[in-house]
Amino acid sequence: MLTCRGVRKEFGGQPVLADLDLTVAEHEVVALIGASGSGKSTLLRCVNLLEEIDDGVIELDGEDISDPRVDPDRVRRRIGMVFQSYNLFPHLSVLANITLAPRRVHRRDRAEAEAQARDLLARVGLADKADAYPDRLSGGQQQRVAIVRALANSPRLMLLDEITSALDPELVGEVLAMVRDLKADGMTMVLATHEMGFARDVADRVCFLDGGRVIEQGPPEQVLGEPVQPRTRQFLRRII
Ligand code: ATP
Ligand code: MG
Repeated sequence: MLTCRGVRKEFGGQPVLADLDLTVAEHEVVALIGASGSGKSTLLRCVNLLEEIDDGVIELDGEDISDPRVDPDRVRRRIGMVFQSYNLFPHLSVLANITLAPRRVHRRDRAEAEAQARDLLARVGLADKADAYPDRLSGGQQQRVAIVRALANSPRLMLLDEITSALDPELVGEVLAMVRDLKADGMTMVLATHEMGFARDVADRVCFLDGGRVIEQGPPEQVLGEPVQPRTRQFLRRII
């Protein structure tokens, strides 16, 4: 579904992604791991066309989305992205946060968008928060709303960047449970994480980024349990 081939991205002459290859199949959950600065967020941002790549190709459903002539908004309608800091609009209610893009971008009518939003909220146990403002919610609840907001666009692909890093430990579980449910529903996801437990738990495949490339990938048990590359071993030794 998603193919990155020979992707290169530089910032100020410094390569951050260097000839990076990554393929993600439909319904697959891929975890990106690697040291801070290894390019995980940059890769997700390139896929969502928040950054322009300097070389290579990114294909979504067979379409070259890295072609500069492609309309980024049209691509982003097929992709849901969630960040570490939930980025909810503070001046909008939960319901308004969720229905903003469906109404503005997808031109759904208000009643239809709100019905869908309430349905999604109910499924994650937040039905009673529809009219609340973000500052009245816990971090975990805000992050679940951010995920619901991404889902409201009916994306083909979800990109999750460190979605539990800003949460108090006791709130991490409810967000992870939501990701597990999404996986059970068959959602294709690429997630960047520092939590190896999360990667092991939810990913079909773990990709270790180093020097702007995927230098080792495979099932979580293999990459996290019996890494082949010395760089992967070194990284895992350091964080455990
Ligand atoms: P972390 O685990 O800390 O989130 P990461 O793997 O997500 O790290 P990136 O955020 O992708 O790493 O950053 C990769 C490198 O690119 C870093 O050296 C960072 O300083 C640099 N970088 C990222 N975005 C920009 C930018 N907009 N301008 C300049 N440099 C940038
Ligand atoms: Mg990052």
